[in-house]
Amino acid sequence: MTLRNGKEFLMIPGPTNVPEEVLRAMHRPAIDIYEGPLVETTDYCLSRLKHLFRTEGKTYIYAANGHGAWDAALANTMSRGDKILVLESGLFALGWGEAAGVMGLEAEILPGGYDKAVDPAALEARLKADTAHEIAAILVVQIDTASGVWNDIAALRKAIDAAGHPALFMVDTIASLGCVPFEMDEWGVDVALTGSQKGLMCPPGLCFVAAGPKADKAHETANLKTHYTDWTFRQGEIHYQKYCGTPPEHMLFAFRKALELLFEEGLERAWHRHALLAEATRRAVAVWAEGGALRFNISDPHARSNSVTVVMFEGEEAEALRTFTQETCGVTIGGTIGPLRGQGIRIAHMGHVNAVMLLGTLSSIELGLQKLGLPHGHGGVQAAMDYLAGVV
Ligand SMILES: *Cc1c(COP(=O)(O)O)cnc(C)c1O
Repeated sequence: MTLRNGKEFLMIPGPTNVPEEVLRAMHRPAIDIYEGPLVETTDYCLSRLKHLFRTEGKTYIYAANGHGAWDAALANTMSRGDKILVLESGLFALGWGEAAGVMGLEAEILPGGYDKAVDPAALEARLKADTAHEIAAILVVQIDTASGVWNDIAALRKAIDAAGHPALFMVDTIASLGCVPFEMDEWGVDVALTGSQKGLMCPPGLCFVAAGPKADKAHETANLKTHYTDWTFRQGEIHYQKYCGTPPEHMLFAFRKALELLFEEGLERAWHRHALLAEATRRAVAVWAEGGALRFNISDPHARSNSVTVVMFEGEEAEALRTFTQETCGVTIGGTIGPLRGQGIRIAHMGHVNAVMLLGTLSSIELGLQKLGLPHGHGGVQAAMDYLAGVV
């Protein structure tokens, strides 16, 4: 028997649920790319991006996924042979480091793990040892969707300052912008980047880069520039240059609508909504974990992210559970990826998500745990509701 027919939920950590308004915003004919409303839309998006990143710096829009933003950040600021330090805390910083290697940079990994945040003290020690200041850039993700970790960017900045190191500080906020606080200027982040398809509620296909003054300075001498990614060219007067070619019009219509929705809600309120739904999820998981079959991937409660919760299973049951929630209940939850593949689930609470979607998802998981006979503490969803009742 299946109870799947009805509205389906996509609770994976990207791409995420796209609001109907955003989908509808795309359903219109193409328009002129040289003048008229599209120019105004570009101005709106570029200036709203500054509010999103919380920066006075320059913002850029690329027709690419998150990997494109990684390339754009490096190509504009680095030179062949430069050394970069990659702060490991899951899968994605490493992926960014691999991209850097392909581009001709020398990537060193500051070893971390899949179950914890980057340690600011380890960063400080490594930077202090770099007395010649050979490290040109430090790469980190704010939230890693493979491990479910949240890195404390402000604390990492303090570690860099404590070491008195001049490297550029670059942060991937692909799974966190719009979901949790991010303060590019206040935290001294030189380059920040994100994608359209996670907290920003759009289809995949756009990515965004913000650059502060130190990054602009590095840009002047960087020799890895490509025509498509080049910030200087994109600062040109002609609208066509802002995209180095035909603007991705329909994605821009979608993005504009998503920004309107986000700022209508209020950025701080969106962060708060994510915090409450994430904590409700953690309350449920904590109860289920009492049965012994599953546990949080991130052991330090302080380092668990507000956009995705990664849950590991002791046995092989994660895939069966995902199949159950999808085929019987109509909700797709994420599987674990990279070295954790097949061993757990990733419950996304990111972007266009409300209490109905989250509680429905948690209930479907709890139903699955029961149906599959997995030893779990009972009343996880009740614990989530008890928590929400106290905070809404
Ligand atoms: C999803 C994700 C990426 C990759 O984004 P793509 O759009 O798939 O290229 C990079 N970093 C983080 C933290 C992510 O969550």
